[in-house]
Amino acid sequence: MGRLTGKTALVTGSSRGIGRATAVRLAREGALVAVHYSSNKDAADEVVASIEKDGGRAFAVGAELGVTGDVHELFLGLEQGLKERTGTTDLDILVNNAGVMGGVAPEDTTPEQFDRLVAVNAKAPFFIIQRALKIMPNGGRVINISSGLTRFANPQEIAYAMTKGAVEMLALHYAKALGPRGITVNSVAPGITRNGNPAFDIPEVVEQMAALSTFNRVGEPQDVGDVVAFLATDDARWITGAFIDASGGTLLG
Ligand code: NDP
Repeated sequence: MGRLTGKTALVTGSSRGIGRATAVRLAREGALVAVHYSSNKDAADEVVASIEKDGGRAFAVGAELGVTGDVHELFLGLEQGLKERTGTTDLDILVNNAGVMGGVAPEDTTPEQFDRLVAVNAKAPFFIIQRALKIMPNGGRVINISSGLTRFANPQEIAYAMTKGAVEMLALHYAKALGPRGITVNSVAPGITRNGNPAFDIPEVVEQMAALSTFNRVGEPQDVGDVVAFLATDDARWITGAFIDASGGTLLG
């Protein structure tokens, strides 16, 4: 029996990357996982199929975040999927993972680009938590994916880093408020982690990125997914309000 058997989880942005690895790991621990995506339904369906092939349980939920009505749409699909499979809408584990990178220098960032970063990376997690708390039983888990860029200077990504700094406040303040319900709230900060970005296909670029980690390699999505899964288990019941450095030692300097 897995450590999360009987639990339910929502992982936003789990059609690929860190979210996918997290969803797969939570399912392997026995959780029923809602695999959320924005536009790439085929990728989310493929994640669900791969979880089911390994004997796990999952379903896909689509909703673009950062637009009007986003949280309502997400929870319509989530609650329907949970009800069909468990008979209730209880959500034990929420992983706020979906996010967009900036990729635009501060001097060229437009107000519209800034608003989009804030809407997807900071505003959506806030309102997803607000909504999720209505259906989260005592002992639940909220894990927000931040970034090592809240502790490691990269002047090209100031706006993005600002949104991640905002996300980290969720753990500090909500952890205090939700302690009486036994709900833990933590931030996980990845360093450079392999995703579908074409930069990971260029050996010289990968070598430079790898050198930032004390282990001299780039992170794999599973490196972060395993940390998130640990925080979701009962083994992590005494950790709340924490910033967990999952950067492979990048923040050691
Ligand atoms: P990917 O770019 O590989 O995947 C992003 C996921 O988020 C996809 O599932 C995508 O769905 C979803 N998503 C993106 N925008 C939206 C939106 N507007 N509404 C709903 N869903 C959306 O992400 P990573 O695995 O690289 O990153 C995951 C998290 O980790 C992010 O919060 C990121 O900021 C953080 N992080 C990543 C690092 C890295 O080096 N990779 C380093 C530090 C932090 P779809 O497939 O449908 O588009």
